[in-house]
Amino acid sequence: MDYFAIFGSPLAHSLSPQIHQAFAEQFGIALRYEKIEASKEQFPKRLRDFHQQGGRGANVTFPLKNEAFKLCEVLSTSAKESEAVNTLFWNEQGLLQGDSTDGEGLVRDLIHNKNIALKGKRILILGLGGAAKSIILALMSLEVEVLVVNRTCQLTPLGSRSCGVRLFNYRNLPKNLPLFDLVINATSASLDGQLPPLDPYWIKSTVAIDLNYDLKRQTPFMRWAQENGAKKAYDGLGMLIEQAALSFELWYQKKPSTQPLFATLLGT
Ligand code: NDP
Repeated sequence: MDYFAIFGSPLAHSLSPQIHQAFAEQFGIALRYEKIEASKEQFPKRLRDFHQQGGRGANVTFPLKNEAFKLCEVLSTSAKESEAVNTLFWNEQGLLQGDSTDGEGLVRDLIHNKNIALKGKRILILGLGGAAKSIILALMSLEVEVLVVNRTCQLTPLGSRSCGVRLFNYRNLPKNLPLFDLVINATSASLDGQLPPLDPYWIKSTVAIDLNYDLKRQTPFMRWAQENGAKKAYDGLGMLIEQAALSFELWYQKKPSTQPLFATLLGT
């Protein structure tokens, strides 16, 4: 039986085991997929132990994506430039290989599941962690205008590919900018039940999407967006499913169907 896992903390509510089991079933693959909680300090040893016990590959989530990036011996462009790895596996040469499917997962979700055309759109991204950088890289090929607002201002190592991206902190984002088409909450503030310092002006008549999700209720960011005039507010469930499908493709070179997962996870 193929052995995979997700590493991170907290993982209690992670849907990844369910999602990957469902993908595996589509192809008749027998899969064992576990949650392995680890702090940054514990991660290297837990990952080594996992591999020694037959682990083939893994997903990595908050707060370990940068640690995974540091451990990988072979990196995709997206992983290298976002300094974050959310999917890893031991390749044919036995080397630990890492990729970041977060950005492409969000783009696929927006375009294919939500029918949002991105070309020419003005997009505001809140946060500049691993997920945000992966998203910026995925958006760069789509002729969009990207503004990023974060507490700390560092675009490196996105380098030249980020040259069209404008970066601000929450205090110096100019007032009265033209309205945004899409606002993406890529901060981890929700994990502590918080919101980043938001300005209602940013959300007026836009589509809002929170990378975070809660199957039972709207996230605080979604509620805030709707209360302040957003046209529509989405959570990160679609991105979660699409980035998982991209991980599965890296492991098996097979493209699972994502549509059935929405009904399964939402219990509809
Ligand atoms: P990182 O730790 O790499 O980055 C976190 C970001 O959030 C940083 O930019 C940080 O700012 C910012 N931040 C944290 N707390 C606050 C706050 N109170 N106010 C303002 N900004 C804050 O995390 P990731 O990029 O990996 O993940 C970000 C979020 O997206 C997480 O909640 C994660 O669960 C979710 N996610 C969801 C996915 C999905 O498939 N739905 C996929 C990937 C991520 P600073 O740099 O200033 O510290």
